[in-house]
Amino acid sequence: MNNNKRAVTPVSRRESGAQFWQVTLRVCQLAVAVDISFFFLFHILGSPILAWINIGSVTMYVGAYYALKRRHNRLAITLIWLEAIIHSALGTLVIGWDSGFHYYLLLFIPALCVSSVRRDVILLSVVALWGYYVTLDILMWFIEPIQPISSSALLGVHLFNLSVVFAMFSYLSFFYMNMVVSAQRKLRRLATVDSLTGLFNRRHGSYLAENEIARFRRTGHPVSFMLVDVDHFKSINDRYGHETGDRVLAEIGNLIPAQLRTQDIVARWGGEEFLIILPGTGIDSAMVSAERVGDALRNHNWESVTGRVLNVTVSAGVSELREGDDMASVVSRADQALYCGKAGGRDRVERA
Ligand code: GH3
Ligand code: MG
Ligand code: MG
Repeated sequence: MNNNKRAVTPVSRRESGAQFWQVTLRVCQLAVAVDISFFFLFHILGSPILAWINIGSVTMYVGAYYALKRRHNRLAITLIWLEAIIHSALGTLVIGWDSGFHYYLLLFIPALCVSSVRRDVILLSVVALWGYYVTLDILMWFIEPIQPISSSALLGVHLFNLSVVFAMFSYLSFFYMNMVVSAQRKLRRLATVDSLTGLFNRRHGSYLAENEIARFRRTGHPVSFMLVDVDHFKSINDRYGHETGDRVLAEIGNLIPAQLRTQDIVARWGGEEFLIILPGTGIDSAMVSAERVGDALRNHNWESVTGRVLNVTVSAGVSELREGDDMASVVSRADQALYCGKAGGRDRVERA
């Protein structure tokens, strides 16, 4: 089976948006777990104020979680923002800068960058976040923590916060990386593949043909070109409707590659016309392949595809790349052979 066949789905902003909210949902669950463990931890470490602040945090994250479930996304984001801003400030004020609660604010830099498409809004938000962070830092130079804990406990809290922020950054980075990679993959498919047949489109077919011509010039290995055109396709449309015509074309997109080798390149060249490039194949073998394609289409059970008994045949013209040829000349020879096939009564393969 030819390897250029795969279903094409458009890149959807809604799709990546849905993934984003899925991640946010998971972040809420994680945050609830972390805050509940903090509640007990801070009681043991002797900072009941912070322990009770964590109960407030849990409440906000639970609120955000259910808001997300009910698709009140804006409310959820506001709750998460408020929690992070208030919690990092209170944690810092109560047990000091070395607690590392401020690290959580850094997580919002990437989050802000993807939250809006407006650059000025992003820039303003990041500057505001920076201002908040720096103010908190400077403030802690001049005031003492409200309820300090022992230095070993502080070190423990610091390391814990640092580790959670590390883990969350890694998780978010993986998520964004995956999103970017899959979006790129989809864009590449959209740019190279014809959506009806799943075959390469004309532009990408030309690009691959040029590559094969360049390889021929380097190595001298034979390359053949085949133009395949459906016979009287207009009458299929006229008689059975455009939708049936589309079904036939889509099925041809499955049938042609199935008759060829993996390295053969199949492109939709025009409406009901296909260009096939056969690397490493001389004209005799290419003729055999073309006959095989013609047989497969003629003998196919079209009723199972279209619900109608159809007679689908094709005419094909085959040419082999020669010294001094370029893309235009070799395709034009195949086209002339195809024309001979049409003139000679159709349902036949002609060599240039
Ligand atoms: P010939 O044997 O000489 O090739 O006759 P033909 O009817 O196949 O050729 P013609 O060029 O007259 O008509 C081609 C038809 O293909 C006309 C056009 O409406 C149809 N067509 C082109 N693209 C599509 C498509 O994507 N879907 C459908 N259903 N029809 C298409
Ligand atoms: Mg035709
Ligand atoms: Mg045509």
